[in-house]
Amino acid sequence: MGVFVLLVVCVLVILLCGLTAAAWLFLRRMRRDMREKIRALEERLEATADRNWELKEAGERARSLLDAQGDVIVRRDGAEIVTYANDAFCTLVGQRRDAIVGTRFQVPVIEQSEATVLPDGTRVHDQKIATPNGGRWISWREVVVRDARHAQTERQSVGRDVTAQTEATHALAEARDQAESASRAKSRFLAVVSHEIRTPLNGILGMADLLRDTTLTPEQTTYVNAVVTSGHTLLSLIEDVLDFSKIEAGKIALERRPFSLSTLVEGTVELLAPRAQAKGLDVGSYVDDGLPRCVVGDADRLRQVLLNLAGNAIKFTETGGVAVIVTPGPRIGEVTFTVEDTGIGIDPDAQQRIFKEFEQVDAGATRRFGGTGLGLAISRGIVESMAGDIRLESEPGRGARFSVTIPLPDAAEAADEQAALPHLNDADVLIVSSSVITPLIGRQIENAGARVSIATHMADAVRDAGTSPWSAILADSALGMPALQEILQAGIPSTSRRLALITPTERAHLPALREAGMTGYLIKPVRSASLLAVLTGAETEAEETAVPLNPAAAPPTAPDSVAVSLKVLVAEDNEINALLTRSLLEKLGHQPTLAGDGAAALDLWRAEREGDAPYDLVLMDLNMPVMDGVEAARRMRAMEEEDGAPPTRIVALSANAFADDRATCLAAGMNAFLVKPLHREQLITTLEELGDPKRAAA
Ligand code: ADP
Repeated sequence: MGVFVLLVVCVLVILLCGLTAAAWLFLRRMRRDMREKIRALEERLEATADRNWELKEAGERARSLLDAQGDVIVRRDGAEIVTYANDAFCTLVGQRRDAIVGTRFQVPVIEQSEATVLPDGTRVHDQKIATPNGGRWISWREVVVRDARHAQTERQSVGRDVTAQTEATHALAEARDQAESASRAKSRFLAVVSHEIRTPLNGILGMADLLRDTTLTPEQTTYVNAVVTSGHTLLSLIEDVLDFSKIEAGKIALERRPFSLSTLVEGTVELLAPRAQAKGLDVGSYVDDGLPRCVVGDADRLRQVLLNLAGNAIKFTETGGVAVIVTPGPRIGEVTFTVEDTGIGIDPDAQQRIFKEFEQVDAGATRRFGGTGLGLAISRGIVESMAGDIRLESEPGRGARFSVTIPLPDAAEAADEQAALPHLNDADVLIVSSSVITPLIGRQIENAGARVSIATHMADAVRDAGTSPWSAILADSALGMPALQEILQAGIPSTSRRLALITPTERAHLPALREAGMTGYLIKPVRSASLLAVLTGAETEAEETAVPLNPAAAPPTAPDSVAVSLKVLVAEDNEINALLTRSLLEKLGHQPTLAGDGAAALDLWRAEREGDAPYDLVLMDLNMPVMDGVEAARRMRAMEEEDGAPPTRIVALSANAFADDRATCLAAGMNAFLVKPLHREQLITTLEELGDPKRAAA
C-alpha cells in the first residue's frame, strides 16, 4: 500500500515536473516572440517618424518655394470663408493670418478686368486691389479644389503681382495714343499749311499764266516761265509732303473701283511721253493678254506709283528707253507692274535706302536731277497699303527695274471692257526699229495672232521691205526721216499697209511721209487698241492725245473765246483767285459775277432766278467764310427741287484733289470738280463735258 502511494506520489511529482518544464518552455517562447514584435514595432515607428519628417520637410520646401515665387495664395470655401492664406497673401493685404482665416475677408478691388475661363476650367483675370502699399495689379488664376479632410470643394486663388508689367503696358499704350494724336495733329497741321500755301501759290501760277498770254518781250517770257516752273515744283513738293504725311499717319483711303489695266498703263506712259521724247528716249508699255482687262482697285493711287517710277526712270536715263510691263503676279489675282530703264542704275548699297523718305543715291545727283527723295517712300507706302510689295533690281550703269506686285481682283462685271480686240489672223508684220521698246510692240502684235519680224538695221529693212509679201510694215522715225521714207518706198511693191511710227513733234513730216508711200501712222507711245486698229485697217491714222505732264508748258491750244457766252457766278473768297477766275472767264467770252462767300452767292443766284435771268453756271469755291461752298450748293439744289426748276450747273473749285472732297461735292449735288489753280484748258474741257448749259437748261 505504502509502495503504491509512493509510486503515485512519484508519478505525480514527475508529472508536475514535466508540466512545469513545459510551462517554462512555453513562457520562454512567448517572451521571445513578444520581443521580436516589439522590435518590429519599434522599426515601423522609426520608419514612420522618418517619413513624417520627410513629408514635413517636403511641405516646408514646397511652401518656401511658393513663397519664394512671391505668389499669393488664398482658399475660400463655398460660403466664401477663408480657409487658408499664405504668408505672401497676408503681407500683401497687411493682415495677420488669424485675422483672415475663418472670416469672409475680401480684398478691396479698384479695377477689374474681364475674366476668361481656360479649357481646363481655370478662371483667369486681373484685378487692381487696394493694399496698405497702394494699388497693386494682381493676375489671378482660380481653380476649384477638393478638400478631402472636410469633404467639400474650395476655390483656390493664386495671384501674381503684375503691377510693373501692367503699368509698363499702360504707359506704352498711353505713349502710343499720344504719338498717334501727335501724328494726327501733324497731318492736320500739314493739311492746313499746305492748303494755306497752295492758295496764294495758285494765285501766282494763275496770274503768271495770264501774264504769259499778254504781249511780252522774250526776256519777260523767260522770267514768267521761270516763275511758272518754280511754282509747279513747289506745288508738287507740297503735294508730296502732304501725301507722305498721310501715308505715315496710315490715313490713306483706298478706293475700290473697276478700271482697265491697259487704259491706266497706256495713259500713264502717254502722260510721260513728252518728257521722254524731249530727251530722245523711247517709252512704251505692254499689258500681258493673260490678264483680266478690267480689275478692281485704286487706279489713281496706282497711277501715282507708276508715274513716280516711270518718271524716275526717264529722269535717270540718258539713252535708250523706258518700258512699263504688266504681267500676272506670282499668286492668283496678283498683277506685277515692272518699270525698266536703260539708265544710270543704282548702287547695291543704296538700293534699300532709297525707299526711305528724303533719301537719294547721292547729293551731287540731286543737284543735277532735282527731286526731293520722297517719291519712292510714298510709292512704297501706297503699295504696302494695297497689300503689295515693291522690289528693285539694278546694277550701276546697267539700268534699273522696279517691280510692284499687288492683288487686283478681276472685275468680271465690266463686260464692255472685255469687248473682243481685232484679230490679226496669220498676218506677217515687219517692224523696222532699233528702239528698246520695239519688242513690246512686237509682243502686242503677236498676241493678236500675227507673225512679227524685227529689222534693226536700215539695209536689212530696205531689203526685207522690198522682197517679202508683208501684211504690214511698221517703220520707226527714230531711224531718221530719210531712212523712214526709204523703207516706206521700198515696201510699195510688196506691202499695201505701210505705217510710220512718229512722235507728236514729227507731225510736220506727215506730208513728206505720205508722198514717200506711207498709208497710215501711229503716234508714240502707242496704245495697243490703236496699234491693232491701224494694222487691221480699221483706222489709218491713230492720233494719240498725249497729255503734257506740265500743263503750264503746254502750247496754248484752246480758243480765246467761245461760241456761247455764259452767265457765270463765281463764289470765291480769295481776291487773287477771284480776279484770276474772272479774267479767265472774260477772256473766254463769258460774263462772270463775283460773290465773296457762299451766302452772298446764294443770294445773287436766287435774285437772278427770280428776275428770270438765271446763271448758266456756278463756279463754287469750297472753303469760304459765312457759308461754305458745299452748303451753298446743297441749298441751291434744295430750292430747285422745291420749285421744280431745271438745275444750274455747279462746278466745285478746290485746292484739294482728294477723293473724299470730290465725293462730298458730288453728294451735295455739284456736277463737276476742278482742282485749283484753274487752267483755261481744264475749264473749257469741263464746260464741254457738262454740255452746253444754255441748251441743257432750255
Ligand atoms: P526723287 O526722285 O524725288 O529724288 P525718289 O524717292 O523717287 O525721289 O527717288 C530716290 C532716289 O532713288 C533718287 O534720287 C535716285 O537717286 C534713285 N532712283 C530712283 N529711281 C531711279 C532709277 N530709275 N534709276 C536710278 N536711280 C534712281
